[in-house]
Amino acid sequence: MTPARSANLTRPLNGRGACHYCGPCERGCQTRSYFNSAFTTVADAIQTGNCTLISNAMVYRVLMDADRNRARGVLYIDRNTRQPHEIYARGIVLCAQAQESVRILLNSANRQHANGLANSSGVLGHYLTAHVRTGGGSGEFPTFDAKPTLGGPKRPLGFYVARFRNTKGGPRSKNFLRGYGFEGDTELSFNWSAPSFGETYKKALRDPRAQVNVQGFGEVLPRWDNYLEIDRKLVDHYGIPVLKIHMSDGPNEQAMIKDMAESAGELLQAAGAKNIRTFANPSAPRWAVHEAGIARMGNDPKKSVLTQFQQTHDVRNLFVMDASGFTSNPCQNPTLTIMALCVRSCDYLMDEMKRGNI
Ligand SMILES: Cc1cc2nc3c(=O)[nH]c(=O)nc-3n(C[C@H](O)[C@H](O)[C@H](O)COP(=O)(O)OP(=O)(O)OC[C@H]3O[C@@H](n4cnc5c(N)ncnc54)[C@H](O)[C@@H]3O)c2cc1C
Ligand code: SF4
Repeated sequence: MTPARSANLTRPLNGRGACHYCGPCERGCQTRSYFNSAFTTVADAIQTGNCTLISNAMVYRVLMDADRNRARGVLYIDRNTRQPHEIYARGIVLCAQAQESVRILLNSANRQHANGLANSSGVLGHYLTAHVRTGGGSGEFPTFDAKPTLGGPKRPLGFYVARFRNTKGGPRSKNFLRGYGFEGDTELSFNWSAPSFGETYKKALRDPRAQVNVQGFGEVLPRWDNYLEIDRKLVDHYGIPVLKIHMSDGPNEQAMIKDMAESAGELLQAAGAKNIRTFANPSAPRWAVHEAGIARMGNDPKKSVLTQFQQTHDVRNLFVMDASGFTSNPCQNPTLTIMALCVRSCDYLMDEMKRGNI
């Protein structure tokens, strides 16, 4: 078990303040102390003077120059006026989170690309993965006379137990492939469920509870049957056709979720927890914006959508730089990998532009 890493500044950097550990990062950070693209990469891009940020622009589709098979821009809907606008560019990079980027590609179908743009392989939208997170447990620990408070300062993150199932030399499972890590947190809280009322309740309420929760984050195997398609009958607020998402737990995920609950129980028991409760629930549909794999990378244009540089095989100046390209989605959180690949692909894109290839 290790404290989870968080990207909070410990000293001022580029106009951003050091973290003062106030606690509720989820409410936003006035001192801009945690990593967030709005505070860092976007702000840096604007500072160069080479970036124009157009807010409230819902991209609907990629515009194509059919004669040259080149992307020439995007059509977007202004969220305030709901009017369509076009914007033109030499290269187009979709980076709207995996499902939304794929929605844009599917909504960009035209005469030359009838099944969706960049979908000559037919795999666009298939092999959807997103972590299973519905197995785990909780237990109570001694409080060592600590006093609970409401809204007091706390660490912004909890702890992590790195993957141990099916690792080299680690315990193996006969029932599933791959594995999961545990994310956990602990809370010193009031005894809200104390019995009684009035003065007795107020006293009992102050009897603190230290609960530790652990939750598995498990890898999902890419399957053709987990896929997205455009819903032909439904449009969103802006008139853009929405996605229909097909996703279910396969036998591998079901067995993994069960194992998460069992090993969470063992882990808490070995650590000395009391009142242990475990859970193993069906997982789909998922959340956490960890969706990936629906415009997979590969060398073979017949079996994949993107190259290793997240360039579409079918349209040379069109890129998708989010988790859509992942061919597997291991148990780790995805964002650092998304960012690392995006930097590598941007390097490639700049080189190609300088060479006049794009
Ligand atoms: C509660 C929560 C906690 C998380 N914690 C972690 C964590 O600890 N570690 C980790 O690695 N990951 C974490 N994630 C996942 C992480 O947020 C995602 O992996 C990451 O944000 C994906 O990056 P992205 O650029 O692909 O998409 P996003 O960050 O979602 O960015 C997409 C952008 O595109 C814009 N957009 C969407 N559609 C359109 C459109 N049609 N036109 C124009 N713009 C559009 C959106 O407004 C958004 O700004 C967490 C997610 C959640 C919800
Ligand atoms: S704890 Fe979170 S919200 Fe508070 S200063 Fe640090 S990063 Fe910002």
